[in-house]
Amino acid sequence: SSFETPARRPSGQHKRSIVERQREASLIVDSIIQPSESSEDDEPTKEVKSWKKRKAELLKKLPPGVDEHAAKQILNEIVIQGDEVHWSDIAGLEIAKNALRETVVYPFLRPDLFMGLREPARGMLLFGPPGTGKTMLARAVATESKSTFFSISASSLTSKYLGESEKLVRALFSLAKVLAPSIIFVDEIDSLLSQRSGSGEHEATRRIKTEFLIQWSDLQRAAAGREVGERDKERGDANRVLVLAATNLPWAIDEAARRRFVRRQYIPLPEAETRAVQLKTLLKQQTHTLSDEDINTLVAMTNGFSGSDITALAKDAAMGPLRSLGDALLHMTENDIRPIGLSDFIASLATIRPSVSKAGLKEYEDWAREFGERG
Ligand code: ADP
Repeated sequence: SSFETPARRPSGQHKRSIVERQREASLIVDSIIQPSESSEDDEPTKEVKSWKKRKAELLKKLPPGVDEHAAKQILNEIVIQGDEVHWSDIAGLEIAKNALRETVVYPFLRPDLFMGLREPARGMLLFGPPGTGKTMLARAVATESKSTFFSISASSLTSKYLGESEKLVRALFSLAKVLAPSIIFVDEIDSLLSQRSGSGEHEATRRIKTEFLIQWSDLQRAAAGREVGERDKERGDANRVLVLAATNLPWAIDEAARRRFVRRQYIPLPEAETRAVQLKTLLKQQTHTLSDEDINTLVAMTNGFSGSDITALAKDAAMGPLRSLGDALLHMTENDIRPIGLSDFIASLATIRPSVSKAGLKEYEDWAREFGERG
């Protein structure tokens, strides 16, 4: 059939060129679906230039007690610049967006209005199945609240950065205060705050966990202004640092750590309406023949799909018109390529399946009912 995966054909020589061709085609599709960031030889933007300057200044005059190497790592690898995500890029999740507006965005933009009883939460947990937009939400919060975005995966603290993790955690919180308003986004937080502890290699993990919890408490204390002689400036900065964490395994987080997240927001699989919006957004810049009715057909066929499953499906379907062309595609203009149709999606549905099972989904629903806010 025309949807046969070319890489499965025999002959070695032939195979390689087909694999290359597929890679090339997939690059084209990727760049169409997700416009690439500006290339490196482009003139750097004003923001990039001023960030570079700020970074150099900071490294020359680090806050007391901050390790230089750790600071460099944070500023180079963990502070995310550019490639912004906005609310409108995220399909659905209105309840979660509203909760984040109220908890983070408004308090960060108008700290004067959010004091006393309205004092903002210092920690928020986003939990739910993988690929539902938790990372996107965190990035959008940073963009919309004009915050510095620190993004670290907790598992890298216990692997890539192991040995320097405690220093790194201290530097992370110090720099977040200096660069406030700041969002510290910790992905896979379960791997840091899990209930497992004790022997051997876990000893190091336990120390990082302790350091993380100490730094986080200090932040909360500084924000509450309970420290004697606290300067207003410091208090204000601490007030505008939020730990936003994400997990696909909320039940793995130990109870004490769980309670520190005052807000726990469930990020569920997309409803039918959200899947329709996402499919339409993905197809917007493509040549396709899908009618509203076709979209409805697809929506019905993608029950149980996550946002990232939908993206994977659309990417695979977008390859459909190229798959039947063979090497000829290398010499064709964009106009010669047939539009993407419903049949491409239906063919792709044979291989792209939902990544969360029904049983898995029930676990999230149960945990959300017991410990979370829905949305
Ligand atoms: P998570 O952090 O929940 O695992 P991500 O935010 O990293 O998921 O999403 C992974 C990818 O899935 C995104 O880059 C995007 O392509 C797609 N995606 C997931 N949820 C949505 C959504 N609500 N709207 C648009 N795209 C989404």
